[in-house]
Amino acid sequence: MKIDILTLFPEMFEVLDTSIIGRAKQNNILEFRVINIRDFSTDKHKHVDDYPYGGGNGMVIKPDVVYNAYEYVVKELTYKPTVIYLTPKGTTLTNKVAKQIANLEHVILLCGHYEGIDQRVLDEIVDMEISIGDYVLTGGELPALVLIDTVSRFVKGVLKEGSADNETFENGLLEYPQYTRPEIFHGVKVPDVLISGNHQEIDKWKNEQSIKLTQEKRIDLLNNH
Ligand code: SAM
Repeated sequence: MKIDILTLFPEMFEVLDTSIIGRAKQNNILEFRVINIRDFSTDKHKHVDDYPYGGGNGMVIKPDVVYNAYEYVVKELTYKPTVIYLTPKGTTLTNKVAKQIANLEHVILLCGHYEGIDQRVLDEIVDMEISIGDYVLTGGELPALVLIDTVSRFVKGVLKEGSADNETFENGLLEYPQYTRPEIFHGVKVPDVLISGNHQEIDKWKNEQSIKLTQEKRIDLLNNH
C-alpha cells in the first residue's frame, strides 16, 4: 500500500521507521512518502497561511500551496489516489473504516494545521474526511499517524495471519484479559483454565470473559451489534 502524506511538519513522521510499521516499510509492504507542503509555496518567504476572510481567530492554509503539493504527487499517475483529509469534522475512524481504507492501493493523507485549510481546495481534491475523535488537536499529523497505524494492521503481511482477528472491537466485543509468565505474580495466579491445556474450555472462557467485559465497560457495543 502506498501512503503519501502532505504536511507542514514532516519530522513528525520519523516514528514510521519504528516497530511493526518500520518493518513493514523495510519489507516494502508499506511505502511512505512525506511531502512538505511548504516546499510548494510560491512566495519568497515561503508563507503557507493567511488571515481568514470574514475575520476570526488564527490562520488558514492557502489553497494554492496545498494544490501544488497534491499536483506534485499525482502528476505522473494515470489514476486518482484517494485523498483523505484528517479533520474533526470527518467520519469517526473505527476498525470498520480502517479496513475499508486498507483495501485501497494508494492514499494521500492531507494534514491541516492552524484553523484548517481553505475550503475550495478541499472541495476539489478530497475524497474522504476522517476524524480520530470528538476533540480538537493542533494539527492533522497525529491523526494521520493514528490512521496509518490502525489501517496498517489490516494490510496483508503487516501482522502475522490471524493476529488481528480476536482483538477488541472484532465481533462487537472487547478482548478477554491476557496473561503471561510468571504463573504467580504478587500472589495472584493466572486463571486455572488457561494452564489446563483444554482448548475447548479455554475458548469458552475467552468468549465468556469477552462478553462479561463488554457488558461491564461498553454495553453500547453489544446493543449496536
Ligand atoms: N478550525 C477547525 C475546526 O474547528 O473544525 C479545527 C482546526 S484544528 C486546530 C487544525 C487541524 O488539526 C485540522 O485542520 C485537522 O487537520 C487536524 N485535526 C484536529 N483535530 C482533529 C481530529 N479530531 N481528527 C482529525 N484531524 C484533526
